[in-house]
Amino acid sequence: MQVEVISLFPEMFNALTQHGITSRALSRALYQIQVTNPREFTSDNHKTVDDRPYGGGPGMVMLAEPLAKAIAAAKQRLAANGVQPHVVHMSPRGKPLMHEKVMQLSQLKGLVILASRYEGVDQRLLDTQVDEEISIGDYVLSGGELPAMVLLDAVIRQLPGALGDADSAVEDSFVNGLLDFPHYTRPEQYEGLTVPEVLMSGNHAKIREWRLAQSLLLTRAKRPDLLAARSLTKEEARLLQAIDSEQEQASS
Ligand code: SAM
Repeated sequence: MQVEVISLFPEMFNALTQHGITSRALSRALYQIQVTNPREFTSDNHKTVDDRPYGGGPGMVMLAEPLAKAIAAAKQRLAANGVQPHVVHMSPRGKPLMHEKVMQLSQLKGLVILASRYEGVDQRLLDTQVDEEISIGDYVLSGGELPAMVLLDAVIRQLPGALGDADSAVEDSFVNGLLDFPHYTRPEQYEGLTVPEVLMSGNHAKIREWRLAQSLLLTRAKRPDLLAARSLTKEEARLLQAIDSEQEQASS
C-alpha cells in the first residue's frame, strides 16, 4: 500500500513510522508513506496556508490552492506506480470510523489522507478533491494528524504480514462483531485474585468456549448495540442461555 499524507506537521508521523507494529510493517515494505507539507506549495514569502473566513467569525480556514497542489503531487506519485488514489479528509464531520471501513481501506493500493488544521478547509477543496471524510469520534481535536495516525495504525495492522502470530488480529474486538475476552498472564495469584481455572486446564475446546462466552457477556454488558447489529450463532445462543439460567438458579 502506498500512503500519502498532507500535513503541516510531517514530523508528527514519526510516532507512526518509528514505533512498534507500524514501524516493523514499514521496514518489511508492507506500505510506503510520504508526508507532504502544503507550505511547500505556496508562492509567498510567508508560505501562507490559511486565511480569514468569509462571513466572519473566529479562527482561520485552510486555503484550497496549496492543498490542491499537494494532493495533485501525491496523486501523481501514485499514478507513476499505476496506483489509483482514494482521498480521505480526517474531519469531525466525517462518518465515524468502524472496523468495516478499516478492512475496506486496507484493501486499497493507494491512500491519500488530508490532515487539516485551524477551523477546517475551504469547502471547495473538499467538494472537488476529497472522496470521503472520516471522523475518529464525536469530539474535536486540534488537528488531523492524530486522527490520520489512528486510521493508518488500524489499517496497517490489517495488511497481510503486519502482525506476527503472537499479535494476531483474528480475536481482536469487533472482528466477529464482539468485544475481546479477558486476558490473564502470570502470576497465578495477583492481589488475592486467581486466574479462571478453565484457562489452566489445557482443555482447548473448553477454553475456546469460555472465551466466547466471556466475549458475549462483555459485549452484552458494555456494547449491546454490537449484539443487536448481528444475529447469534446457535453456539452463542446456547452459551448465553446456559449462563443466564445458571445465574437465575444461583439467585433463586
Ligand atoms: N471546526 C471543525 C469542526 O467543528 O468540525 C473542527 C476543526 S479541528 C480544530 C481541526 C482539524 O482537526 C479538522 O479539520 C480535522 O482534520 C481534525 N479533527 C479534529 N477532530 C477530529 C475528529 N474527531 N476526527 C477526525 N479529524 C478530526
